[in-house]
Amino acid sequence: MVALEVAGLRKSYNRAGVLTTALENVSFNIPDRQFISIVGPSGCGKSTLLRCIAGLAEPSGGDIRVGGQAMHGVPDDMVYVFQEYNRSLFPWRRLLGNVAYPIESRLPRSVSSDRARAYIKLVGLEGFENYYPWELSGGMQQRAAIARALVTEPKFLLMDEPFGALDAQTRVSLEETILDLWSRSPRTVIFVTHDIDEAIFLSDRVLVMASRPGRIVEDIMIDLPRPRH
Ligand code: ADP
Ligand code: ADP
Repeated sequence: MVALEVAGLRKSYNRAGVLTTALENVSFNIPDRQFISIVGPSGCGKSTLLRCIAGLAEPSGGDIRVGGQAMHGVPDDMVYVFQEYNRSLFPWRRLLGNVAYPIESRLPRSVSSDRARAYIKLVGLEGFENYYPWELSGGMQQRAAIARALVTEPKFLLMDEPFGALDAQTRVSLEETILDLWSRSPRTVIFVTHDIDEAIFLSDRVLVMASRPGRIVEDIMIDLPRPRH
């Protein structure tokens, strides 16, 4: 099953009369449950592409289909994890309250709380349920953001340089957590990074982009033995 189809996508920005073509004729399909990375130099349009897919930016042309349907606004089975972990959690809520937030209005409190605790455990933060975000390290805050993204059990997980602001050691341990989570419950993941090694380590497939205008120049299947296979 094709989870996502992008056909002839184009996006330009007009800022004070200056037109920048961020994406030109970008086309690809992603099958269900594929882990795909998008790599390329800064400014090649990776974030723009992800934002168009998430319904956060409006394409200037072309077509995006999710599960065979044309997109209308923000798809509700997609979640987004940003690089800026220090701005993604509510500072006035404890870890448990943050992770439970996306599901608390549609589930009884005891159910949302149990599910939030389960995801907190899966990302390795058991025991920190009552900590506030500012009491957690950067890596722990990004783990919390991932738990909050996964707690809705979305079909699509979109990540924009999620580990870009973390030190090398923290990054490696989060990469391992992501692989572990994916092998427990494979879902369609689109992972943006400028680090080709990270892309190859994590993904089934790597799209390489180039800039001016932003476009896909390589589409590579990765078939390496890895822990999750
Ligand atoms: P990447 O994520 O690969 O670094 P971006 O998608 O952020 O690339 O940017 C692609 C191009 O579009 C760049 O030239 C950038 O300056 C431009 N751009 C991105 N967002 C905007 C915006 N809101 N307004 C004007 N230009 C933008
Ligand atoms: P506080 O109210 O102390 O500022 P929180 O709002 O994060 O901090 O939560 C306090 C406690 O209430 C949490 O430790 C947790 O036990 C529980 N809690 C908070 N939000 C939820 C929720 N959405 N679902 C279930 N339990 C919650």
